[in-house]
Amino acid sequence: MKILLVEDEVALAEALSEILKRNKYSVDMVHDGEDGLEYALTDLYDCIILDIMLPKMNGIDVLRLLRKKHINTPVLLLTAKSEVEDKINGLDSGADDFLTKPFVSGELLARVRALTRRRGEVVTDEFTFGDIALNKSTFSLSREGQFVKLSLKEYQIIEMMMVNPKQLIPKERFIEKIWGYESDVEYNNVEVYISFLRKKLGAIGSGVTIKTARGIGYYLEGGD
Ligand code: CA
Repeated sequence: MKILLVEDEVALAEALSEILKRNKYSVDMVHDGEDGLEYALTDLYDCIILDIMLPKMNGIDVLRLLRKKHINTPVLLLTAKSEVEDKINGLDSGADDFLTKPFVSGELLARVRALTRRRGEVVTDEFTFGDIALNKSTFSLSREGQFVKLSLKEYQIIEMMMVNPKQLIPKERFIEKIWGYESDVEYNNVEVYISFLRKKLGAIGSGVTIKTARGIGYYLEGGD
């Protein structure tokens, strides 16, 4: 899951980013409304955490422009105080939820989980496909009581495939979502992690295979 964090208070933004990363989200962080809009328009995110009071362009205007361009990513607005007017404007502009500062990290995580769930991508702590289950809490892949631990990148790659089963995912998409929008990671890196994942699927005796669409990307097949 990839999150865009738009918050001009740098210390707060960095603290939130750390918390989200520790909870296995990929995070892109920007500090003004214009950058927020530019990043959000890529439509790469599963959730956007958007402060209202921002330099260059406020959060409500960012949100309005996004919805006008049919970017329907769930948006969690951050308000400095519980200003009723901000909330009404925000809801009118297409926000999905609000969080009033200051808040505890558990509350932020719960809201983000709820918003990404609403999108239909996370239902429980576990994704299943064919004969395998991917556990978000233990970071492991299992089949009939046999488990293997995954590294962060392995986890993120197979999660993307299991969320979109049988759908071809281009290599570029993995790079954009996992390594970051402005990343210059070589495509080979994706191949390396795919080969690790294939070994791990083999290690638990799974019938699921990662298929290669030559030159384009990967998809999951089998294991039923
Ligand atoms: Ca602010």
